[in-house]
Amino acid sequence: MSKGFIKKVTMEEGALQYDFSRKILKNLRGTPVTERQPGGEKTGPNDSTMGKDILHLLPYKGEFLKPCPGTTDYICCGYQILNLGTNCPLDCTYCILQSYINQPNLRVFVNLDVGLKQVFQQIDKQPDKIFRIGTGEFTDSLAMDPITRLSEHLLPLFSRRRNVALELKTKTTRVEGLLASKYRDRVVLSWSLNSPYIARHEEKMAENLDKRLKAARRCQSEGFILGFHFDPLIHHPGWKDEYLKTLDLMDKYIDPKGVIWISLGSIRFMPGLKPIIRKRHPNSRVLDGEFVTGLDGKMRYFKPIRIDQFGHLRENLEKWHSSLGLYLCMESDDVWESTMGWSPGETAGLSRYLDKRVVEFFG
Ligand code: SF4
Repeated sequence: MSKGFIKKVTMEEGALQYDFSRKILKNLRGTPVTERQPGGEKTGPNDSTMGKDILHLLPYKGEFLKPCPGTTDYICCGYQILNLGTNCPLDCTYCILQSYINQPNLRVFVNLDVGLKQVFQQIDKQPDKIFRIGTGEFTDSLAMDPITRLSEHLLPLFSRRRNVALELKTKTTRVEGLLASKYRDRVVLSWSLNSPYIARHEEKMAENLDKRLKAARRCQSEGFILGFHFDPLIHHPGWKDEYLKTLDLMDKYIDPKGVIWISLGSIRFMPGLKPIIRKRHPNSRVLDGEFVTGLDGKMRYFKPIRIDQFGHLRENLEKWHSSLGLYLCMESDDVWESTMGWSPGETAGLSRYLDKRVVEFFG
C-alpha cells in the first residue's frame, strides 16, 4: 500500500492553521484538497466504502486521552487510548469500527500539539502512576504513518518520560518512520496476529503474517520492545493447526525475551455489526458458528469454545517461552482460572500485572 491510497483531502474550516496539517499536505503534494464545513455527512451500515480513500483533517474537540471502554462485567487491561484520529485504511471484515464510528473518512486530528500538551500535563501530575497508552484502538497505529509521520512526533515526547509505555499497534510493515527515529525507550511496537487463514481471508489490505513478523524482527534487532495481540481469535476449520503455523513463524523471526506482552481475545462484537459484515463482506466466515450475548451486550462464542481457544494458544506459546506477559482481553475470572491457571481477579489486578511488565522492561 503506497501513499496513493488517498484520493482526496478534505479540511474542516480552520484546520490549515495547524503545523501538522501543513506537514501532512506537504507529504501529499498533488492530491486534490477541498474545504468542508464542520460536521458533514454521516456514515452507517449502508456506506460501503466508509471513505477509506479520503483523508479528513480537523481539530478535535474532545479529550485526547481516555480509558479504554472496558466494562465492569469483565476484566479489562486498564489501558488508556490516545485518540489521534478515527477510521483505518485497512478493511478487516470483523472490524468493530464499521459499526462504532459514525463519521466517514480517515479523520486525523490536527490540533495534536494542543491535545498532547494536555495529555502530558495529566501524565506528569501523577509520576507514580504508570500510563500504558495506545493509539491503535480507533485506527491502525502505523497504516498512515508515511503520511502523518506521527511516530516521529510521538517517540521523543514519550521516550523522555519515566511513567509511560506507548504502544503502537499495527498489521502493516510501515516502520520506516520508527526506525529513522533515534528514540526507543518507553515504546512498545505491537503486531496483531491471527491464523494464516484468517489473515488471508479476513484482514483485507493488511500485510501477510510473514511480512508482519519480518518487520517486527527488524524493529527488535534495532532495539524496540515488541508486543503481540491474537485478537480476535476466530474459530474456523483446522484452527488449532492454523494458529500453530503463526506460532512457528514467531519462533522463526522473534526473540521471545524481548516480548513484553501477548494478549488473547476471542471475537466479540455488538449485534449491530452483524448485518454490516454480511453486507460489506458477503464472503466472510467470521460469523460462522454460534454466538451468545455476553454481560456487556456483545456477541461471543460459548464459554467452552473460548476456553479451548485460549488454552490452545497459552499452552503452545508457553512452550516457546515461559515469560511472555500473556493476558486475556475482556474475560471473566473463571475463564482466566480455567485457561491461565490464575486470575488477576479484577481490572486493577490485571493493570498491576501489566504495569509490572513495563517496569521489568523499561525500569
Ligand atoms: S487494522 Fe484494526 S482498525 Fe484497521 S480495519 Fe483492521 S481491525 Fe479495523
